[in-house]
Amino acid sequence: MNINRRRFMGLSTAAIAAPHIALAGQSLNIVCTVGMLADTAKQIAPSNVTIRALMGPGTDPHAFRQTRGDVVALTKSDLIIRHGLYLEAQMEDLFAKLGKRKTILSAGEAVPDQHLLPYDDASAQYDPHVWMDPALWTHVADAIAAELSSKLLKNSAEIAENHARFVANLIRLKDYGHDILASVPKQERVLLTAHDAFRYFGSAYDFDVMGVKGISTTSEAGLYRIEELVDLIIERQIKAVFVESSQSDRNIRALIEGTAARDHDLKLGGQLFSDAMGPAGTYEGTYVGMMDHNLTTIARALGVDAPTRGMNDKLNV
Ligand SMILES: [Zn+2]
Repeated sequence: MNINRRRFMGLSTAAIAAPHIALAGQSLNIVCTVGMLADTAKQIAPSNVTIRALMGPGTDPHAFRQTRGDVVALTKSDLIIRHGLYLEAQMEDLFAKLGKRKTILSAGEAVPDQHLLPYDDASAQYDPHVWMDPALWTHVADAIAAELSSKLLKNSAEIAENHARFVANLIRLKDYGHDILASVPKQERVLLTAHDAFRYFGSAYDFDVMGVKGISTTSEAGLYRIEELVDLIIERQIKAVFVESSQSDRNIRALIEGTAARDHDLKLGGQLFSDAMGPAGTYEGTYVGMMDHNLTTIARALGVDAPTRGMNDKLNV
């Protein structure tokens, strides 16, 4: 058993010690931080469960601060699902307080240590963006399913069935990514985005990944960093860069202008969903849809003839 698993289990054990508010057959009120967690819980939970996300489309979780209404919702909930791994950096103090009397599942920390990437060379923290690899997200789905089953014993068969179906979709998504990206030559496997959210994508699909800002979004990219990246784009003949839904595109546009000034044609490959999903009620507003969009957009920007409407023929184009 590794350290992260222990940390995760520790929170679960605390959960078991807390009073069981929702008994079999009763509804359960769950509050999640990011949309990816809320959608995963929705895919797995039975219909008598209420699930909401604090952070909507376009919200940056590194910078997000809760409102008074959010605190009320968290306090009234039967179960809080947060990502952990320091993703919700501005909410750490609040969770430390709430954790003394509420059930908090840090679902992102269910990913075993050996699959986690270091945040940077200097710190002991891990990069939190594990949702960028659908295979790693299966651990998060497992943790949510286990927590739901422990709280809703009578629904455990339905939860198990939903969980199996969702995990099968994650595996199909992982394989779809490998299929459509297989033809991209090694030297063109570079993904340049606004911040370092895609390193797990890079690790899963053998891409070099670079962000203009660092992993967190709270430091501004310096002019030096832009110039350094312009050199690299020209050196590696990178064809496309991407903007992110939850980040400003100012730095990415500076890269396009910087390379154009040196006669290199760098195109905007499209918008990727990094730390938040697409609009509620759309396919891109689900975890699978968000990742289908990212995989398909990256492949097509690099010249692959991937299906325009993605793996499930549902992408809005
Ligand atoms: Zn991020």
